[in-house]
Amino acid sequence: MDFSDDQIRRYARHIILPEVGGAGQARLLGAKVLVIGAGGLGSPLILYLAAAGVGCIGIVDDDSVDLTNLQRQVIHDTGSIGLHKVDSAAATVARINPDVRIVAHRLRLDAGNAAGIIGQYDLVADGSDNFPTRLLVNDAARLAGKTLVSGAVLRFDGQLATFKAPGPCYRCLYPNLPADEDMPSCAQSGVLGAMAGVMGSLQAVEVCKELLGIGESLSGSLLIVDTLSTTFRKVRLKPDPACPLCGSHPSIHDLSAHARHTERTCG
Ligand SMILES: [Zn+2]
Repeated sequence: MDFSDDQIRRYARHIILPEVGGAGQARLLGAKVLVIGAGGLGSPLILYLAAAGVGCIGIVDDDSVDLTNLQRQVIHDTGSIGLHKVDSAAATVARINPDVRIVAHRLRLDAGNAAGIIGQYDLVADGSDNFPTRLLVNDAARLAGKTLVSGAVLRFDGQLATFKAPGPCYRCLYPNLPADEDMPSCAQSGVLGAMAGVMGSLQAVEVCKELLGIGESLSGSLLIVDTLSTTFRKVRLKPDPACPLCGSHPSIHDLSAHARHTERTCG
C-alpha cells in the first residue's frame, strides 16, 4: 500500500513502532471493525480506532444523544443532544480522520439481522449495556468465526475479555445469566465516566492488537478492573464443556437456536 505524505505524518508514531510498521498501519487502514454501542465504552473505543486509522468502523446503536450521556460518552457533545448516536459519532470521526469510513447501523441487533451485519466485518467490539445483546453478539460472532473483544462497566468496576476459538466464549463465562431484576444498569447504579474511558481505551488497544496479530491476546483471560482500589486483575478462563455454543456437544448451530437458549437463560 502506498501512503500519502499526510498519512506518513499522521501515522508516524505507529509506523516507527517495530511491532506495527508500514505493513501494520496498512493492515489497520484495511480493517473493518464493528462496534456495538456508541455509549460509555463505544465513545473512547471509536475515537481511538478512528485516530489509529482503522479504515472502516461500523457502529450499531438505535439510541439518540441525551444530556445524561455526556458525563461519559465523550464522542458526543452538548450540540449533539437529540441526534442519533450513530450520526453524532460519525460527525466526530469525520473531524478526527478523513481516512475512516463510518457505516451507521441505526438499529437494535436481533436474531434476524445480527449474522448479516457481523458477517460484513473482520472483528466485533461489544460495548453494549445489556445481557441479551451481549449473548446475541457472542453467538453471532462465534458462529461467523469472528473475534469478539467485549467490555463491560458499572459503578467503579470494569471487565474486558477477548473471545475467539478455540478459547472460551461469553456463554462459557456466564452459563447462568441473572434475571432482569438482578442485572443492575448504569442508569440505576451509576458509573464513573473516566472509568468507562479507561475500559473503552483498553478495549481499543486489544482490538488493535488482534488486528495486528501482536502481543499476548486476552483470549482465555478476563481482566477485572477495580478503579476504587486501582487494581487490575487477570484471571484465566477455560472453555465450558457444557457450553451450548462451543462445548463438547454444542446445541446452538444458528441464531434461531440462540433465541431458544437466550429465552431460557435470561428469563
Ligand atoms: Zn462457550
